[in-house]
Amino acid sequence: MNTLEIENLVAKFPLVQQLIDLQAVTWFNPNTTTLAEGLPYVGLTQKDVAQAEARLKRFAPYLCLAFPETQTTQGIIESEVVAIPAMQDALQQRYGQTISGSLWLKKDSHLPISGSIKARGGIYEVLTHAEKLAIEAGMLSVDDDYAILFSDKFRQFFRQYSIAVGSTGNLGMSIGIMSAKLGFSVSVHMSADAREWKKRKLREHGVNVVEYEQDYGVAVAQGRKQAESDPRCFFIDDENSATLFLGYAVAGGRLRQQFEQMNIQVDRQHPLFVYLPCGVGGGPGGVAFGLKLAFGDNVHCIFAEPTHSPCMLLGIYTGLHDQIAVQDLGIDNVTAADGLAVGRASGFVGRAMERLLEGFYTLSDQEMYDLLGLLAREENIQLEPSALAGMPGPARVCAHQQYLDSHQLDAQKMSHATHLVWATGGGMVPAEEMAKYLGAAKN
Ligand SMILES: *Cc1c(COP(=O)(O)O)cnc(C)c1O
Repeated sequence: MNTLEIENLVAKFPLVQQLIDLQAVTWFNPNTTTLAEGLPYVGLTQKDVAQAEARLKRFAPYLCLAFPETQTTQGIIESEVVAIPAMQDALQQRYGQTISGSLWLKKDSHLPISGSIKARGGIYEVLTHAEKLAIEAGMLSVDDDYAILFSDKFRQFFRQYSIAVGSTGNLGMSIGIMSAKLGFSVSVHMSADAREWKKRKLREHGVNVVEYEQDYGVAVAQGRKQAESDPRCFFIDDENSATLFLGYAVAGGRLRQQFEQMNIQVDRQHPLFVYLPCGVGGGPGGVAFGLKLAFGDNVHCIFAEPTHSPCMLLGIYTGLHDQIAVQDLGIDNVTAADGLAVGRASGFVGRAMERLLEGFYTLSDQEMYDLLGLLAREENIQLEPSALAGMPGPARVCAHQQYLDSHQLDAQKMSHATHLVWATGGGMVPAEEMAKYLGAAKN
C-alpha cells in the first residue's frame, strides 16, 4: 500500500492509525448478530462438529496405545479448567479495574502430545486423512477397533504417503509428531520465529524440518509447493482448512460438559466470556464456533493479538479479511508470541466468523511477559507468551460500559459472569527456555 492508500484507509477506519502506531487497542464489533442469524454464514453445522467428535472417539483406542499419556482420559485429548482467583486479584490491581464474576483458565497449554491448542486441530486433521486413506485401501472400516492402527502393517501402509505443513512452531509439533507416529513421512516447513527446541524435538521424532529465514506466510507457501509436485503428499492448509476448524470446534461441547460437572452455570443470567489468542485464526475461530454451538448467545468470544501482528482485527474491522496484511501498513509482524506471529489472517475464518465474534484487542509483548511472570507467581502456572494474550481481556470487557450496555449485561448479570482465559500453549517449554521468559517479566 502506498501512503495515499493508507491515508484513505485510516480516514474510513480510524482505529487503523492506532494499529500502525502499535498502540494496545480494544474494539468491540458492532456487526455481531445472534447465533441463529450468523450461523448460515459459517457454512458448517452442529452435524459437522458431531462427526468430528465421533471420529475422535473412534481414534481414542489408538491414541491410548500410541500416546500412553492419554490413557487417563481414555484416549480423548482434553484439558482441565481451573479457577485462578489469585490471578484475578492481581489483574484487578494491575489494571485498576474490578473484574465482576470469576476468572478461570482453560489449560490447553497442557494438552497431551504437543502441549498447545494445536493438539486439537492439527491432530484431528492428520487422523482424518489417515482414516480416509486406510478406508479407501480397504484396510479399515469405521466399525473396527482403531487400536489395529498401532501396528507395523499400518505404519508400512502410511509410509507410502507424506504430509507437509507450514508452521510457526506449535502446529508443526502437533502434525509432525502425530503423522510420524502413524508412519507418514512428514515435512514441517518452519518460519524464522519458530523456536530451536521445537525443531530439535521434531527431528527426534523423525520429522523432516525445513527452515526458512522468512515468516509464516513464506513457510506455508513453500509447504504448499512441495505438496503440489507430489500426488502422494497431503498439504495441511492452516489458512483455509475446514477440517482443522472442526477439530478445534469439538472443544465447545467438551467445555459444556466440564462446566456441568463443575456446576458452572451459563445462561442469560450467567454470561460466559472467553478470551482467545489469535494467530491465523483457525484455532480461536474453530473454538469460538464450537462455543457458540454449545452455549448459544450466552457466550461472548473475544480475540487477542500482539500489537505487532493484529491481522484478524485488521481484516474484520476493515472488511478486507485476507486482502490485507499488517505488513501492508508497515507493521513488522515481529513478536515474542511466536504462536501469534501471523501478518495475514485466514480469509475463511474471518468471513465465516465475523458476525459471531464480539470483540478484539491487542497487547504488547512486554505485557505478555509481565502477565507470564504474574501467573507463575500467583498461581504457579507456567505458559508461553502467546498463551497470556487472553489475560487482559476480562478487565478490558469490564471497563467497556458501552459494550456491556449494548448487550444488556447489567451489574447483576456481570456479578455472575464466568471469564475463561484460553491458555493456548507452554506445557512443553524446556526449563531453560522458561527461565528466559520469566526473566523478561518486569515483576
Ligand atoms: C497457534 C497458536 C495460537 C493461535 O491459533 P491460530 O489458529 O494460529 O489462530 C494461539 N496460541 C498458541 C500458543 C498457538 O500455538
